[in-house]
Amino acid sequence: MADLGITQQQLTALFTTLSSIDQRLHRIEAALRLTPYNAPMIQPMQQQVAPIPQQQQQQQQQQQQPPPPQQHHRPTVLLGPVNFIPLEAPPQGYTVSSRASMQEELDQWTIPRGYSMRIAGAKVTGKKKVRWVCYRGGEARHHRPPLDESLIQQAKAEGRRKPTTDRSSKKCGCMFKFELIETTKGSDIWMLHYPNDEHKVHNHGPSDQTSDPRARKLPAFMSAEVDQWLREGKQVSKIQEDLKARGFMNVLNTDLYNRKRMLQKADTQVGGMT
Ligand SMILES: [Zn+2]
Repeated sequence: MADLGITQQQLTALFTTLSSIDQRLHRIEAALRLTPYNAPMIQPMQQQVAPIPQQQQQQQQQQQQPPPPQQHHRPTVLLGPVNFIPLEAPPQGYTVSSRASMQEELDQWTIPRGYSMRIAGAKVTGKKKVRWVCYRGGEARHHRPPLDESLIQQAKAEGRRKPTTDRSSKKCGCMFKFELIETTKGSDIWMLHYPNDEHKVHNHGPSDQTSDPRARKLPAFMSAEVDQWLREGKQVSKIQEDLKARGFMNVLNTDLYNRKRMLQKADTQVGGMT
């Protein structure tokens, strides 16, 4: 075999990663076939795998051009009604393509299934790993310390909700957790691992998506388009119509009004400086 400048270990990791991606694609395709209508699909980022040089290809040359891949842009996010199992855990070996997009990629799995994950810590020396826990992990805090009066005044001045408002905690001691371990040093490809089988189940039901701000968050491209609409003065009801037509069912009118207010404020500030 030709020396490709990569170790056996790296090859193994690459193979495992590709297998995992393949499994994910199968699941996505299976889910697509279950979809009652053609749900819109988006690809937020182009995942590229460096082609492995093959001697065979060089030998074949021009005579036999390989056919173009049938589907170059694979969907990585599915929107719209897909038959998800509530609270389903991502499989052991599930891969994430970068540290920077880890939250977003995990959200793509977890939020449609009624839960979300947050970072609980990271190991940065040796084999890198990031620990994730269920958003409802930890104990509810019933008694909050009194807040600084200046914070309340500041919030009031900015027209925000008072920070003293006692919102009920969503924490319920859920032990669901996993870690994402970098497959090989510097690869920035991360594989999901459950350190313990007991931590593969939640102690609560799926959350109502409209009560979860993270479930209502739009992907970057859609959010940019909504901003554009808001700046153009498009009606919130019309925006909602268009969002629903594209499969984004969870955005609240208040989210849009808040966003509009924020944009106006930001635009005014920028205008004032020039
Ligand atoms: Zn949980």
